[in-house]
Amino acid sequence: MTELTDIIKSRIAEKGPISVGEYMHLCLNHPEHGYYTNRDPFGPDGDFVTAPEVSQMFGEMVALWLMQAWNDQGRPEKFLLVELGPGRGTLMNDILRTANTLPDFRQGADIWLVENSPAMRRKQSAVLMGQEPNWAFKVEELPEGLPMFLVANEFFDALPMHQFRYNDAGWQERLIEVGEDGKLAFTHGRPAQNEDLTEFFPMLPEHLYAEVSFQSEDIASKIGDRIAADGGAALFIDYGDWDGAGDSLQAVQNHEPVDALDHPHGEADVTAHVNFAALARAAGAARTEGCVPQGPFLQRIGIETRAGMLINATDEDEVAEEINVALNRLIHPDEMGTLFKVMGLVHRDAPQAPGFEDASLVPE
Ligand code: SAH
Repeated sequence: MTELTDIIKSRIAEKGPISVGEYMHLCLNHPEHGYYTNRDPFGPDGDFVTAPEVSQMFGEMVALWLMQAWNDQGRPEKFLLVELGPGRGTLMNDILRTANTLPDFRQGADIWLVENSPAMRRKQSAVLMGQEPNWAFKVEELPEGLPMFLVANEFFDALPMHQFRYNDAGWQERLIEVGEDGKLAFTHGRPAQNEDLTEFFPMLPEHLYAEVSFQSEDIASKIGDRIAADGGAALFIDYGDWDGAGDSLQAVQNHEPVDALDHPHGEADVTAHVNFAALARAAGAARTEGCVPQGPFLQRIGIETRAGMLINATDEDEVAEEINVALNRLIHPDEMGTLFKVMGLVHRDAPQAPGFEDASLVPE
């Protein structure tokens, strides 16, 4: 048994069962043993590979979207270029390289990385050397009064999510206790405080959970308010469905799914699907452009053209093949193209943002 398991069990012994959200928080962000606290989990040798690690084309497309949004909102001379949870810094690095093609954008950007893991900050600082990024722990620390152009890729899935179900006893939160065999196990109890659940999860069958991430909603609402007040735009990219009904708590280790309660020792990545509808509602001060699958989004803003350019620029068949494999990985429905969704937010007065032209999932 590892130390984090012991810490979780003694907390349960002291205070009673803990919520799924508290469990996720301990697994991922415990100051000593949390998954992100000490390690670099990305890449072929890590537990999972994120889109920016698959190919530079991903960051290039994100950069194009942000630069277009900046252009559409009057090319502000100074603005914040923000990334939430930048991991290894690859995405921001690709964005900044692409931004060199638009000097007014590059020069006006005040770069901010919202990151709470010391290990990740060290990595980002090495990758972004010379670019002079600033770091913040929270969105509320970002300087006010400037437009904000923001991206968050695979950030919200790592934030604590709570699960509630509806039965004869009303809404109850799913909790984690120590079972008779000494192992962690799910249980129920604690009536949910949140009256809104019935409104947003009407007729939820008993086997499905209403998945709510209070922290994600809080962050989305702050971003929406900032965009409304100062201008700007945001792209949230993550896996999930629209409405957050289900049971999506999952753990991944060495690219394989593992039991979410069996690995609470900071060695497996514990995540959940993102409830995009809740993010859109929370960020309602800004305009949600829609929530579209990653494949069509990237295709609409030109990833295939870009792949063709990169392929034409190489004489090596192997390199060309790698580009095709990466493209497929990002856009194919059986790969990341459908499971991953892209949600765009813009200031209410901004023109329609690219990539969301016929988006159907626009909330009321
Ligand atoms: N965006 C990156 C990494 C995603 S992993 C990529 O696409 O490759 C999630 C990132 O968010 C990590 O850098 C992790 O350290 C950071 N993170 C997790 N929880 C956080 C929190 N509550 N506040 C700030 N950063 C957090």
